[in-house]
Amino acid sequence: MTAGTREWASRNPEAGGRRTTDVIRNVARDAQGMTSNAFLVTGRPGSRAPATDDGEPGRRVLVDCGANYDAVAAVREHVDDLDAVVVTHTHPDHVDALPALREAFDVRTWGYDTSHDAVDERLGDRETVQLGTATFETLHTPGHKNDHLCLFDDENGVLFAGDLVFADGAFGRTDLAEGDRERLVDSIDRLRKWVAGDLGAIHTGHGRSIETTPEESLELSARAARV
Ligand SMILES: [Zn+2]
Repeated sequence: MTAGTREWASRNPEAGGRRTTDVIRNVARDAQGMTSNAFLVTGRPGSRAPATDDGEPGRRVLVDCGANYDAVAAVREHVDDLDAVVVTHTHPDHVDALPALREAFDVRTWGYDTSHDAVDERLGDRETVQLGTATFETLHTPGHKNDHLCLFDDENGVLFAGDLVFADGAFGRTDLAEGDRERLVDSIDRLRKWVAGDLGAIHTGHGRSIETTPEESLELSARAARV
Protein backbone atom coordinates (compact mmCIF):
# COMPACT_ATOMS: atom_id res chain seq x y z
CA MET A 1 0.00 0.00 0.00
CA THR A 2 1.27 3.45 -0.88
CA ALA A 3 0.93 6.40 1.44
CA GLY A 4 -2.11 8.47 0.64
CA THR A 5 -4.21 5.65 -0.67
CA ARG A 6 -6.18 2.95 1.00
CA GLU A 7 -6.97 -0.49 -0.21
CA TRP A 8 -10.18 -2.27 0.47
CA ALA A 9 -10.55 -5.99 0.30
CA SER A 10 -14.28 -5.83 0.40
CA ARG A 11 -16.06 -8.69 1.99
CA ASN A 12 -19.66 -9.60 1.96
CA PRO A 13 -20.57 -11.40 5.19
CA GLU A 14 -23.94 -12.41 3.73
CA ALA A 15 -22.14 -14.26 0.97
CA GLY A 16 -20.09 -16.39 3.32
CA GLY A 17 -17.20 -13.98 3.64
CA ARG A 18 -15.90 -14.39 0.10
CA ARG A 19 -13.30 -11.80 -0.69
CA THR A 20 -13.13 -9.94 -3.93
CA THR A 21 -9.84 -10.31 -5.76
CA ASP A 22 -9.93 -6.65 -6.72
CA VAL A 23 -8.29 -3.61 -5.17
CA ILE A 24 -10.15 -0.31 -4.79
CA ARG A 25 -8.09 2.80 -4.05
CA ASN A 26 -9.21 6.39 -3.64
CA VAL A 27 -6.42 8.11 -5.59
CA ALA A 28 -7.77 11.59 -4.74
CA ARG A 29 -7.55 10.92 -1.04
CA ASP A 30 -4.68 13.36 -0.39
CA ALA A 31 -5.84 16.06 -2.80
CA GLN A 32 -5.99 19.46 -1.13
CA GLY A 33 -8.43 21.24 -3.43
CA MET A 34 -12.15 20.75 -3.94
CA THR A 35 -12.53 17.29 -5.45
CA SER A 36 -14.67 14.22 -5.38
CA ASN A 37 -13.19 10.86 -4.48
CA ALA A 38 -11.69 9.01 -7.45
CA PHE A 39 -11.64 5.23 -7.06
CA LEU A 40 -9.14 3.23 -9.05
CA VAL A 41 -10.32 -0.37 -9.39
CA THR A 42 -7.80 -3.00 -10.45
CA GLY A 43 -7.45 -6.73 -10.33
CA ARG A 44 -5.10 -8.07 -7.71
CA PRO A 45 -1.81 -9.31 -9.18
CA GLY A 46 -1.78 -13.08 -9.28
CA SER A 47 -5.55 -13.36 -9.21
CA ARG A 48 -7.41 -15.76 -11.46
CA ALA A 49 -8.04 -15.39 -15.19
CA PRO A 50 -6.55 -12.24 -16.71
CA ALA A 51 -9.38 -10.02 -17.82
CA THR A 52 -7.61 -7.77 -20.29
CA ASP A 53 -6.01 -8.52 -23.64
CA ASP A 54 -2.63 -7.28 -22.47
CA GLY A 55 -2.43 -9.67 -19.55
CA GLU A 56 -3.49 -7.36 -16.73
CA PRO A 57 -5.12 -9.11 -13.77
CA GLY A 58 -8.28 -7.03 -14.29
CA ARG A 59 -9.70 -4.04 -16.13
CA ARG A 60 -8.11 -0.85 -14.76
CA VAL A 61 -10.99 1.55 -14.28
CA LEU A 62 -11.31 4.89 -12.53
CA VAL A 63 -14.73 5.59 -11.00
CA ASP A 64 -14.98 9.41 -11.12
CA CYS A 65 -11.91 11.51 -11.91
CA GLY A 66 -11.89 14.20 -9.26
CA ALA A 67 -10.64 17.76 -9.76
CA ASN A 68 -7.88 20.14 -8.73
CA TYR A 69 -5.12 17.57 -8.25
CA ASP A 70 -2.62 15.68 -10.40
CA ALA A 71 -4.86 12.74 -11.29
CA VAL A 72 -2.43 11.37 -13.88
CA ALA A 73 0.38 11.09 -11.33
CA ALA A 74 -2.00 9.65 -8.75
CA VAL A 75 -3.12 6.94 -11.19
CA ARG A 76 0.44 6.23 -12.35
CA GLU A 77 1.47 5.48 -8.78
CA HIS A 78 -0.45 2.24 -9.23
CA VAL A 79 -0.88 1.39 -12.91
CA ASP A 80 0.87 2.15 -16.20
CA ASP A 81 -2.34 2.58 -18.12
CA LEU A 82 -6.09 3.05 -17.66
CA ASP A 83 -8.65 0.93 -19.54
CA ALA A 84 -11.73 3.05 -18.83
CA VAL A 85 -13.24 5.85 -16.80
CA VAL A 86 -16.78 5.58 -15.43
CA VAL A 87 -18.49 8.69 -14.06
CA THR A 88 -21.30 8.52 -11.51
CA HIS A 89 -22.42 11.95 -12.74
CA THR A 90 -20.94 14.98 -14.45
CA HIS A 91 -20.58 17.63 -11.75
CA PRO A 92 -17.25 19.47 -12.22
CA ASP A 93 -15.69 18.15 -9.02
CA HIS A 94 -16.11 14.62 -10.45
CA VAL A 95 -14.93 15.22 -14.02
CA ASP A 96 -12.55 18.21 -14.16
CA ALA A 97 -9.46 15.97 -14.09
CA LEU A 98 -10.71 14.14 -17.18
CA PRO A 99 -8.95 16.15 -19.93
CA ALA A 100 -5.56 15.39 -18.35
CA LEU A 101 -6.46 11.70 -18.00
CA ARG A 102 -7.64 11.53 -21.60
CA GLU A 103 -4.43 13.09 -22.82
CA ALA A 104 -2.19 10.84 -20.73
CA PHE A 105 -4.02 7.53 -21.24
CA ASP A 106 -6.14 8.06 -24.36
CA VAL A 107 -8.97 6.66 -22.27
CA ARG A 108 -12.70 6.53 -23.05
CA THR A 109 -15.39 7.35 -20.52
CA TRP A 110 -18.72 5.73 -19.71
CA GLY A 111 -21.67 7.54 -18.15
CA TYR A 112 -25.40 8.08 -18.41
CA ASP A 113 -25.54 11.22 -20.55
CA THR A 114 -23.48 11.19 -23.74
CA SER A 115 -24.54 14.77 -24.54
CA HIS A 116 -22.06 15.84 -21.86
CA ASP A 117 -18.46 16.39 -23.02
CA ALA A 118 -17.15 14.10 -20.29
CA VAL A 119 -19.09 11.04 -21.51
CA ASP A 120 -18.04 9.09 -24.61
CA GLU A 121 -20.06 5.91 -24.16
CA ARG A 122 -23.57 5.47 -22.84
CA LEU A 123 -24.12 3.47 -19.68
CA GLY A 124 -27.87 3.28 -19.16
CA ASP A 125 -30.06 2.02 -16.35
CA ARG A 126 -29.54 -1.66 -15.47
CA GLU A 127 -26.56 -2.17 -17.73
CA THR A 128 -23.34 -3.88 -16.78
CA VAL A 129 -19.74 -2.72 -16.78
CA GLN A 130 -16.58 -4.55 -15.77
CA LEU A 131 -14.37 -2.94 -13.10
CA GLY A 132 -11.29 -4.94 -12.17
CA THR A 133 -12.50 -8.53 -12.50
CA ALA A 134 -15.99 -7.80 -11.16
CA THR A 135 -19.21 -7.14 -13.02
CA PHE A 136 -21.10 -4.10 -11.80
CA GLU A 137 -24.69 -3.29 -12.67
CA THR A 138 -25.93 0.29 -12.98
CA LEU A 139 -28.95 1.90 -11.39
CA HIS A 140 -30.11 5.29 -12.64
CA THR A 141 -30.55 7.39 -9.50
CA PRO A 142 -31.55 11.00 -10.25
CA GLY A 143 -32.27 13.59 -7.56
CA HIS A 144 -28.79 15.03 -7.00
CA LYS A 145 -28.27 15.33 -10.77
CA ASN A 146 -30.30 13.92 -13.67
CA ASP A 147 -27.49 11.75 -15.06
CA HIS A 148 -26.58 10.12 -11.73
CA LEU A 149 -25.74 6.42 -11.67
CA CYS A 150 -24.94 4.01 -8.84
CA LEU A 151 -22.86 0.89 -9.58
CA PHE A 152 -23.26 -2.36 -7.68
CA ASP A 153 -21.42 -5.68 -7.72
CA ASP A 154 -23.82 -8.05 -5.96
CA GLU A 155 -21.33 -10.91 -5.85
CA ASN A 156 -18.84 -8.98 -3.72
CA GLY A 157 -21.31 -6.55 -2.18
CA VAL A 158 -19.54 -3.42 -3.42
CA LEU A 159 -21.54 -0.26 -4.17
CA PHE A 160 -20.32 2.99 -5.73
CA ALA A 161 -22.94 5.51 -4.64
CA GLY A 162 -21.61 8.75 -6.14
CA ASP A 163 -23.27 11.75 -4.50
CA LEU A 164 -26.57 10.03 -3.73
CA VAL A 165 -25.71 9.14 -0.12
CA PHE A 166 -22.73 9.58 2.20
CA ALA A 167 -21.59 8.21 5.55
CA ASP A 168 -23.38 9.07 8.78
CA GLY A 169 -26.81 9.34 7.20
CA ALA A 170 -25.87 12.21 4.90
CA PHE A 171 -27.25 12.54 1.37
CA GLY A 172 -26.53 14.47 -1.83
CA ARG A 173 -27.45 18.12 -2.06
CA THR A 174 -30.53 18.97 -4.10
CA ASP A 175 -30.17 22.76 -4.29
CA LEU A 176 -28.11 22.75 -7.49
CA ALA A 177 -29.45 22.65 -11.05
CA GLU A 178 -31.36 19.38 -11.64
CA GLY A 179 -31.58 18.80 -7.89
CA ASP A 180 -34.91 17.37 -6.73
CA ARG A 181 -35.44 16.09 -3.21
CA GLU A 182 -38.42 13.89 -4.02
CA ARG A 183 -36.53 12.17 -6.81
CA LEU A 184 -33.53 11.75 -4.49
CA VAL A 185 -35.69 10.07 -1.86
CA ASP A 186 -37.18 7.79 -4.51
CA SER A 187 -33.69 6.93 -5.80
CA ILE A 188 -32.44 6.06 -2.30
CA ASP A 189 -35.52 3.85 -1.74
CA ARG A 190 -34.95 2.01 -5.03
CA LEU A 191 -31.26 1.65 -4.22
CA ARG A 192 -32.05 0.14 -0.81
CA LYS A 193 -34.31 -2.49 -2.37
CA TRP A 194 -31.79 -3.22 -5.08
CA VAL A 195 -28.86 -3.96 -2.71
CA ALA A 196 -30.82 -5.49 0.18
CA GLY A 197 -29.11 -8.51 1.70
CA ASP A 198 -25.99 -8.25 -0.46
CA LEU A 199 -24.34 -5.01 0.62
CA GLY A 200 -20.83 -5.12 2.12
CA ALA A 201 -19.31 -1.70 1.44
CA ILE A 202 -20.35 1.66 0.01
CA HIS A 203 -17.81 3.90 -1.68
CA THR A 204 -19.23 7.40 -1.81
CA GLY A 205 -18.36 10.42 -3.95
CA HIS A 206 -17.09 12.38 -0.95
CA GLY A 207 -15.83 11.48 2.50
CA ARG A 208 -15.12 8.07 3.93
CA SER A 209 -16.36 4.75 2.65
CA ILE A 210 -19.01 2.91 4.65
CA GLU A 211 -17.97 -0.60 5.64
CA THR A 212 -19.81 -1.06 8.91
CA THR A 213 -23.55 -1.80 8.71
CA PRO A 214 -23.90 -0.15 5.29
CA GLU A 215 -27.59 -1.01 4.96
CA GLU A 216 -28.33 0.80 8.23
CA SER A 217 -26.40 3.77 6.90
CA LEU A 218 -28.57 3.78 3.76
CA GLU A 219 -31.67 3.67 5.92
CA LEU A 220 -30.42 6.64 7.94
CA SER A 221 -29.82 8.61 4.73
CA ALA A 222 -33.28 7.69 3.45
CA ARG A 223 -34.85 8.94 6.66
CA ALA A 224 -32.78 12.13 6.80
CA ALA A 225 -33.58 13.01 3.19
CA ARG A 226 -37.32 12.92 3.99
CA VAL A 227 -37.09 15.59 6.68
ZN1 LIG B 1 -22.30 16.01 -7.42
